[in-house]
Amino acid sequence: MTPVQQVAVEGFFDPTIPALLGTRCVECATVFFPAEETSCRNPHCTSTALEAMTLSTRGTVWSYTDAQYQPPPPYVAADPYVPFALAAVELEKEGIVVLGQLAHGIGVDQLSVGMEVELVTEVLYSDEEAEHLVWKWRPVNNNG
Ligand SMILES: [Zn+2]
Repeated sequence: MTPVQQVAVEGFFDPTIPALLGTRCVECATVFFPAEETSCRNPHCTSTALEAMTLSTRGTVWSYTDAQYQPPPPYVAADPYVPFALAAVELEKEGIVVLGQLAHGIGVDQLSVGMEVELVTEVLYSDEEAEHLVWKWRPVNNNG
């Protein structure tokens, strides 16, 4: 029997695409992730018109680290906590940086700033209820 799959953090990520879910200000086009639903946070904009959007699924590594301690929300980690490689990935079109774990088996020694990565879906943890899915970043293999 195929286990039930569900998103570890509802509203951040659609594993069926897969893509991160954000919002964009209709007035100034500023993009928010996690999705901002009340009003634009651009200090020069007073708009409350925000539209849902999916974020780019490719970006470039802006910074990375070995996460020896659990990062703050919206980041979700396995319990018990297992250290992993964490990357801040810049999405050029949106002009934002999104944190994410590196895909299974990818360590900091395989990363460099400016490297292109793509969004993938992996199981974060499993329990009796379901497999809980999260987004991760995986280096794009330019050699095919
Ligand atoms: Zn705005």
